[in-house]
Amino acid sequence: MKVCRTVQELREATRVWRGKGESLGFVPTMGCLHRGHLSLVERSRRENDKTVVSIFVNPLQFGPKEDFSVYPRTEEEDRRVLEQGGADLLFLPRVEEIYPPGFQTYCEVTQLTKPLCGLTREGHFRGVTTVVLKLFNIVSPQRAYFGQKDAQQAIVLTRMVEDLALNINLRVCPILREQDGLALSSRNRYLSREEREQAPGLSRALGRAESLFLEGERGARVLRDAVREELGRLPLFTPEYVELVDLGTLLPVERVESKALLLLAGRLGRTRLIDNIVLGGTYVDLGTQE
Ligand code: AMP
Repeated sequence: MKVCRTVQELREATRVWRGKGESLGFVPTMGCLHRGHLSLVERSRRENDKTVVSIFVNPLQFGPKEDFSVYPRTEEEDRRVLEQGGADLLFLPRVEEIYPPGFQTYCEVTQLTKPLCGLTREGHFRGVTTVVLKLFNIVSPQRAYFGQKDAQQAIVLTRMVEDLALNINLRVCPILREQDGLALSSRNRYLSREEREQAPGLSRALGRAESLFLEGERGARVLRDAVREELGRLPLFTPEYVELVDLGTLLPVERVESKALLLLAGRLGRTRLIDNIVLGGTYVDLGTQE
């Protein structure tokens, strides 16, 4: 696996592949890799000749009170995992490579970024779209892979690709979970033993709503209340939101007509966790179709 730290190095490496007509899949990450990230790499390998992974803890998407400085950085281990996972190139830029002095150009999706995580994480999605657009321009992949885990992010990025007519196919992949249901996340390592014991309650709460949905319940209030009730059993969890929204607009729905996205966010102790489920559909509904 090649490792590149500058834009120039990466462009040179990928130019050779492109010259041979090889297709490129791209998996952007912030590192501290787990099986969820690897599932994106595996999918990219199946669908492309070469797979590029980036690891960049993007300062622009962290708020002033968020965990940028302590976000786990495990470069050695990540390199080993990616080598084994069969990635062809790892892009590991320094912050100044992406945001050189004088940087002042941003990309913003204006509406889809307002609700849900946008309510408490001001500027977060602007940071995400700006860095992803820049990485897309550097790597020029045919396809890019994102996880349903960050459903709002996937929907925002899909909008960006559409609005700016980017020639990239954005693929969304399912959430990988621990055996007890907890969605894999780099932030799970912040959890204390007691918090970790309560953490499966998040997916259990979504599962409760899913069961009701499968039994025929379509009312948003009933479905949301079922989630809230289950979350209420977790003494260390402080919910931020539980919402049932339209997949296209991310605005609340009163009833699930055919499909809808049920999401939750909150703090388990001090760690912010998110999870979601598509009722009446799947992760495929969050990305672009080829
Ligand atoms: P991150 O490193 O947290 O920025 O995540 C990089 C990519 O991996 C994003 O597209 C995430 O949605 C995706 N991802 C994170 N956790 C999971 C998971 N448990 N299952 C599948 N994909 C995931």
